[in-house]
Amino acid sequence: MNNDNRMRNNNNVKPKIIPRREHGISRKGIGGNALKVLYRLNRGGYEAYLVGGGVRDLLLETQPKDFDIATNATPEEVRRLFRNCRLVGRRFRLAHILYGRDVIEVATFRGHHASKKSDKYASQSNDGRLLRDNVYGTIDEDGERRDFTVNALYYNIDDFSVRDHAGGMEDLKNRVIRLIGDPETRYREDPVRMLRAVRFAAKLNMQINSSTAEPIPALAHLLCDIPSARLFEESIKLLQTGHGYPIYLMLRELKLFSPMFPILEGHFTEDSSSKAEQMLTLVLQSTDSRVNSDQRINPAFMYAAILWYPLERRAEELSFENDFTHYDTFMMAANEILDEQVKSLALPRRFTAMVRDIWQLQLRLNRRSGTRAYKLLEQPKFRAAFDFLEMRSRVEGGQLNELATWWDVFQKADREGRNNIIQFINKACPSKKTCDQPHKRLNKHKPQSNQE
Ligand code: ATP
Ligand code: MG
Repeated sequence: MNNDNRMRNNNNVKPKIIPRREHGISRKGIGGNALKVLYRLNRGGYEAYLVGGGVRDLLLETQPKDFDIATNATPEEVRRLFRNCRLVGRRFRLAHILYGRDVIEVATFRGHHASKKSDKYASQSNDGRLLRDNVYGTIDEDGERRDFTVNALYYNIDDFSVRDHAGGMEDLKNRVIRLIGDPETRYREDPVRMLRAVRFAAKLNMQINSSTAEPIPALAHLLCDIPSARLFEESIKLLQTGHGYPIYLMLRELKLFSPMFPILEGHFTEDSSSKAEQMLTLVLQSTDSRVNSDQRINPAFMYAAILWYPLERRAEELSFENDFTHYDTFMMAANEILDEQVKSLALPRRFTAMVRDIWQLQLRLNRRSGTRAYKLLEQPKFRAAFDFLEMRSRVEGGQLNELATWWDVFQKADREGRNNIIQFINKACPSKKTCDQPHKRLNKHKPQSNQE
């Protein structure tokens, strides 16, 4: 039987138990709080396993991001064992054990849904999406309900063995991301699994198995039914954790990018040469290199960059429809673009406010005479706005290059140097018209539909 068939029929597959001496997981690799939770559950008479990313990453000899625990104790039973416990989630009820900022997630084994009808434990939409998944079951059933084979490995705190439910050990060795069960059914149950496949492939440097990848482009549209708050969270994990650029390329190839950023659809070209695409490449590559060198990142910066050229296009379109100033038209377009974007990804308000600030400052960076440049330097978002100007200048060159260089020199100059620079500007532009163009009407030539 080939692997795919084995996976499809994995109801019949017995899990493999790998004893302690035959795998590389040591308790030293497991966080102290996770160990405490495992032991307390175990001593309370329950089964307790480390599962998911914690086991997978330890087997790959990398540092797990967090530790997830699975048990046969119900969430209420877990709560009775731990004072520092909070039950969360309606769709998927979980216990969170809190140690300061460290949160250990404890999930009760999930079982199969006996029927399609909805009750307080289980609920499925007409097209197969799981709206509620709180039917508890055995560890074997739990193994079948997990997403990928490499995520269905369980480390047993009772005897330190690893339980390989679906062939995950072999897939880890061969670096394969493979969905458990029939891919289409599993994607319909939870379309976010398509995004997770891409994320794990990029993060773990693995290949998505062909039958796992094959149905994705045709099912990508299912992401449109996912609540926008959940998709926003996923977009952060996809694009802000150090592998954003390769993930973006894979998302585009599998048609998963547009459901998250529908506004960008009209900006995509065969050879990725549009300004919006160049900006995506720049901002994702720079985010990746910042994350990988432990520098701080600001998610609002990325969203501001991704949506900038759609914003410019929208502002230009609006300028044909009304006679408002450039500034007002631009801010109207900004509101429209953000309103549209939050329908698919629910950016929290503090992020949309920051995106607006960065955009608005782009207009003000043109205005440098008098005391304006000094005032801008004082703005809390100046640094982000300047970095963004530099990125735009790398896409567009020309006058933007000059402007970015000007700000670079101005920032680095001492007091006297700055005064000289400003005097020069004041002299060169006595009427303030040529250097300060905030309210200039937008170019009234109608844009070609596919040009930016
Ligand atoms: P990460 O390193 O990102 O934390 P992870 O594999 O631990 O990776 P989590 O989102 O923390 O991912 O989920 C923990 C485990 O729960 C997964 O390994 C998987 O077994 C299971 N899981 C999570 N989301 C799903 C899903 N949508 N469908 C099925 N199983 C899931
Ligand atoms: Mg995890």
